[in-house]
Amino acid sequence: MKKFIALLLAAVMTMSLLTACGGKTEETTSETPEAEAAQDEGTEAEAEEEAPEAEAQDAETEAEAPETEVEGEAKESTDAQSEALADGVLTVGTNAEFPPFEFVGDDGEPDGFDIALIKAIGEKLGVEVEVENMEFDSLVASIGSKVDVAIAGMTVTDERKNSVDFSDAYYEAVQYVILPEGSEIATADDLAGKTIGVQLGTTGDIIASDDIEGASVSQYNKGMDAVNDLINGKVDCVIIDKNPALVFASKFEGQLTAVDGAEFGFEPEEYAIAMPKGDTALVEQVNTALEEIKADGTFDKLVETYIEN
Ligand code: GLN
Repeated sequence: MKKFIALLLAAVMTMSLLTACGGKTEETTSETPEAEAAQDEGTEAEAEEEAPEAEAQDAETEAEAPETEVEGEAKESTDAQSEALADGVLTVGTNAEFPPFEFVGDDGEPDGFDIALIKAIGEKLGVEVEVENMEFDSLVASIGSKVDVAIAGMTVTDERKNSVDFSDAYYEAVQYVILPEGSEIATADDLAGKTIGVQLGTTGDIIASDDIEGASVSQYNKGMDAVNDLINGKVDCVIIDKNPALVFASKFEGQLTAVDGAEFGFEPEEYAIAMPKGDTALVEQVNTALEEIKADGTFDKLVETYIEN
């Protein structure tokens, strides 16, 4: 009997030891690195899907070596979780009326430099990117509610910084003045008292409304509508960002010219991605992705494809 009890005890101990080991291995492989890595990439569903796979590996000691590396990575990026990325989808607001940064493509969907850039960023972050087209003037207010972020050739301004956080700047711009061929407007003083077409809520609007004496400012939701009114003689000039100005003016070659706003004393501006105020995890991850995209040549390729052509 004594011998039997001793044997039984030994058996129980061995079993519990095995269970403990098994349990521990399972925890390390399935719950920590795999699940976190999957969560990083996106949905919880993915994380659940991967769990059984990890369990299957738990007997294999070999499988543990590479997993350790994953653990390090996963830990780094899960230190702070971005709320905007938690559902695996990055919803992006834009105003697809601002070529070459954003425009409506042949398939009816927003396309352009900014759209390609944010999709490349989404890929780096392991999230799906959904683009919502809306009026430029509603973008800032929609960040954190209707959309997660906005990319729209948006200039970093102190006022906007009160409502949103910006990524690192990704493009330098300046306001241009589109003029009818033969216009007498040539200097900042000449703009005084003129009727100026702008896109509502833009930095061009702010310059025309706040800085130009006696100007009568006509605000449009679409820059192109302002340009059409310039052709129709309803406004004397249009103030809009350099690249769209060049695109719009080129549609009316021989009738319009786009003049560098530096000649009118306009300051350089910088475009950045606008994000919910306080989501520092998102800002960090977007900036890291942006750095990588610049380092690996993707950024230059996008400039070539969308802006230089
Ligand atoms: N860069 C300008 C701004 O931020 C215009 C942007 C735009 O019209 N999409 O106000």
